[in-house]
Amino acid sequence: MSPAIQPTVIVVGSGLAGLSAAYAALQSGARVHLLDRSPKLGGNSIKASSGINGAGTPAQEAAGVKDTQTQFYNDTARSGGARFKTASTIPGFDREALVTRLSTESADAVRWLSDEIGVDLSVVAQLGGHGVARTHRGKGKPPGASIVLTLLDRLKASDNFTLLSSADVTSLLQHDGAVTGVAYTQDDTEHTLAGRVVVASGGFAGDASMLATYTPALAGLPSTNDPRPGSHALLTAVGAQLLDMDSVQIHPTGFVDPATPGARLKFLAGEMLRGEGGILLSPSGSRFVNELDTRAAVSKAIMDAFPSVDEDGTRQWDITLLLDPGAAAAAASHIGFYEWKGLLRKVKLATLSPEVVASVQAYAAAVDAGSTDPFSRPAYGHWKLKPDAESLAQAEVYIGRITPVVHYTMGGAAIDTGGRVLRAAGGGVVPGLWAAGEVTGGVHGDNRLGGNSLLECVVFGLAAGNGAARGD
Ligand SMILES: Cc1cc2nc3c(=O)[nH]c(=O)nc-3n(C[C@H](O)[C@H](O)[C@H](O)COP(=O)(O)OP(=O)(O)OC[C@H]3O[C@@H](n4cnc5c(N)ncnc54)[C@H](O)[C@@H]3O)c2cc1C
Repeated sequence: MSPAIQPTVIVVGSGLAGLSAAYAALQSGARVHLLDRSPKLGGNSIKASSGINGAGTPAQEAAGVKDTQTQFYNDTARSGGARFKTASTIPGFDREALVTRLSTESADAVRWLSDEIGVDLSVVAQLGGHGVARTHRGKGKPPGASIVLTLLDRLKASDNFTLLSSADVTSLLQHDGAVTGVAYTQDDTEHTLAGRVVVASGGFAGDASMLATYTPALAGLPSTNDPRPGSHALLTAVGAQLLDMDSVQIHPTGFVDPATPGARLKFLAGEMLRGEGGILLSPSGSRFVNELDTRAAVSKAIMDAFPSVDEDGTRQWDITLLLDPGAAAAAASHIGFYEWKGLLRKVKLATLSPEVVASVQAYAAAVDAGSTDPFSRPAYGHWKLKPDAESLAQAEVYIGRITPVVHYTMGGAAIDTGGRVLRAAGGGVVPGLWAAGEVTGGVHGDNRLGGNSLLECVVFGLAAGNGAARGD
C-alpha cells in the first residue's frame, strides 16, 4: 500500500478492546496511534483474573467439555435478563445480533489469542451462570496480564504503531458531522491528531459521579475499579447514543483485606475460585446459595439475606469464601498471590467454628455421594475433601472474607455489529467513529456473564479496528 493513501486509525484506550482494535487496524494496513491517559497501560483488562469465554474450543475438547455457540448465546441472554426481552427503540441497534456475533466468534477469539498472539489459554473453568466450563485462562500468569502484555509486545514490533501514554483525549474533532480525529493533552500541552477514531476507554465503575447519576442506590459500596472518570462524554459530545446506563454489575466476591477492612478499593476474588470448587458461608457459617449462579443472583442472596456493616464509610458484608485442598490446588496460580496479599489464609478446618465444620461436612458428603446440592449448584469443581471425621480433622482449607462490590458497567455507547457508533438523533452512525469494550453497551443486558467482557473486547475490538482501517 502506498504511504500516501495509508489510513490513520487513532485508538483511545490501551485495554484489551483498544489493543485488539489496534492489532486489527495494523493488519488491515493502517498506521495506528494508541493513546492512553494513564502512564500505566492495560486499563482494567490487565486485572482480569478469571479468563475469556469461548464455546467449542480445543481446550474445552481436551477437558471433555461439550459446548455449542447456541448454549453460550442462551447463557448470555439468560444472564442479561429482562433487557433481552424488550425490543430496542434505537434505530440500528440489535442486541440479539451483537450477542450472536459474540457467541459465534468466541472460539475464533480464543484461537486468535492463543495461536496468533501466543497467549496460553489452555485451562477452562465453569463460572457462575454458565452451563459448562468455557472460561479460558493459562497455567501461569493471570489471564488479563498475560493477554495485555503479550499483545502490547506484538503491537510494539510494528513500525506503523505509535504508543502515547499519559495522553488524555479531551475531545473528538468533527467536520461536517464526521469524526476526523482527537484533541489530547500530554505533559500539559495540547495536541491534535487526524484520523478515524476507535474509542475503547472502558467503563465507569470507578467514576463516583457517574455512578451517583445512574445508580444512586449503590452509594457506599466498595469497588474493584480504581477511581477514574468515565470518558463517555467524548462520545455523547459528537452525538452518540448511550443505553443501559443504569445496569451496573455488583460482583459478589471482592476480598475484604483484614489489614484495611474499610478500604473502598477491593481486590477481586476471581470467580474461578468458586468455579474450581470454593464455597460461600454466611456470617453464621452456613451455606446459603448456589455459588455458581449468576453474579446478580449471588450478590442478591448476600445483600438481601444478611445485614451490611459500615466500616469507615464503606458499606459491606461479612461472607466467607472457603476452598478445600482440591479447589485450592486447581486454583494454585491465584491462591499464592492472594495468600501473599493476606486476603486468603490457610487454616486447619478443625480450628473454625462448629457451624463452619458442619457446613463443610454436609457439602463434602453431597460431593462424595454425587447427590444433588440443596442449593442446586450444578458442578462441584475440584472439591476433594471427604466427609469422614479423620479427613475433616486433618484438612487444611483456605478462607477469606468477601463482600459484594461494584465491578462493571454494562451500559455505554450503542454500536452496530461492526462497532460503528450509533447516533442519538436521526438514526444512522456517527461517521469516522467506532467503539468497543466496556465503553459500549448492549451486549450484556442487565448482567454480564463472567468472561464475556474480555471476549467482547476481542470480538468487537477486532471488528472496530478492521472497520476503522477500511473506513466502513
Ligand atoms: C479486577 C477485575 C477483574 C476482572 N476479571 C475479568 C475476567 O476474568 N474476565 C472478563 O471477561 N472480564 C473481567 N473483568 C472486566 C474486564 O477486565 C474489563 O471490563 C475489560 O477488560 C474492559 O476492557 P476495555 O478495553 O474496554 O477497558 P479498560 O481495560 O478499562 O481500558 C480502558 C483504557 O482507556 C483509558 N482511557 C479512558 N479514558 C481515556 C481518555 N479520555 N484518553 C485516553 N485514555 C483513556 C484508560 O486509562 C484505560 O487504560 C475484570 C475487571 C476487573 C476490575
